[in-house]
Amino acid sequence: MNEFDLIARYFTREAPNADLGVGDDCALLSVPAGMQLAVSADMLVSGRHFFPDADPYRLGHKALAVNLSDLAAMGAVPRWFTLSLALPQADEAWLAPFSRGLLELAEQHGLSLVGGDTTCGPLTIAIQIAGELPRGSGLLRSAGQAGDDVWVSGELGAAAAAVMHGTGRIRLGDAARLAAFARLDCPTPRVALGQRLRGIAHAALDISDGLAGDLRHICAASGCAAELWLAALPAAACLAELPMALRHEALLSGGDDYELCFTAPPARRAVLQALATELRLPLTRVGCLRAGQGVHVLHDGQDIRWQHGGFDHFAAQ
Ligand code: ADP
Ligand code: MG
Repeated sequence: MNEFDLIARYFTREAPNADLGVGDDCALLSVPAGMQLAVSADMLVSGRHFFPDADPYRLGHKALAVNLSDLAAMGAVPRWFTLSLALPQADEAWLAPFSRGLLELAEQHGLSLVGGDTTCGPLTIAIQIAGELPRGSGLLRSAGQAGDDVWVSGELGAAAAAVMHGTGRIRLGDAARLAAFARLDCPTPRVALGQRLRGIAHAALDISDGLAGDLRHICAASGCAAELWLAALPAAACLAELPMALRHEALLSGGDDYELCFTAPPARRAVLQALATELRLPLTRVGCLRAGQGVHVLHDGQDIRWQHGGFDHFAAQ
């Protein structure tokens, strides 16, 4: 199978959102008047972001899910994406499930694959995604205000528990292990929530590197401090099997949950609770923004001086 057969078979589909999709020098896309493009890219490298023997269906899902999560955190409607792939070989037993995992999730979100690049090399998956939103309505990290509540969606820590299990730091029981790895390998991007937060939330981001570290980005961009209440954090059920210290680590510094963290004025509490019910997705108030700087984790009213930042690829080397 040559490069062009591979692209035709696995990555060429109808692209209803595009004026022109895969097959020419460029895709051609139209953005309606009054809308803004939201563009983001994420790259997954074998051995760094996933184990080389990772299940290809789940990998296809995850590669797109992490990109969708960025659009969600901006409040954008997903529209188009490109896929750049470096593959060690044209292995159909890998390509078929990978493209299924990727394209099934794309279809669920009305997202069109409009181009990409394919080359031989160490397995690397680079996706660029674009969505649209009404001009000026994006949920910027810089829009937080002292006095805002800090909220998170869903539950935290399951993906971190899976990594702890995978690296031998803990041993989860069977049920907890399955639940934890489902979250790590097959995250659900909070796309509907992100769009509904436009006009309600101030600042937002997706939690990819750990809540405490990610929230620091909102604080820095918004020029304020945050308090996080450790006891209020919504813990995934599988964390019950972890000793206290690791539980705190998973909740505060665990990456890969892809929940949304956002800030909103206290006057929006009732609207947000109603939204949680409507979307059947827990929304939990876990802290607040105030004057100052940095993220302060409070436990029984005391600042526990949480030190672990989020994951930093270069610091970790
Ligand atoms: P070029 O030489 O202009 O880079 P290519 O031969 O790399 O074009 O690609 C041919 C067409 O296939 C282009 O429209 C490109 O966007 C698309 N394409 C290449 N690789 C992928 C991929 N992995 N997924 C989707 N589309 C792809
Ligand atoms: Mg090319």
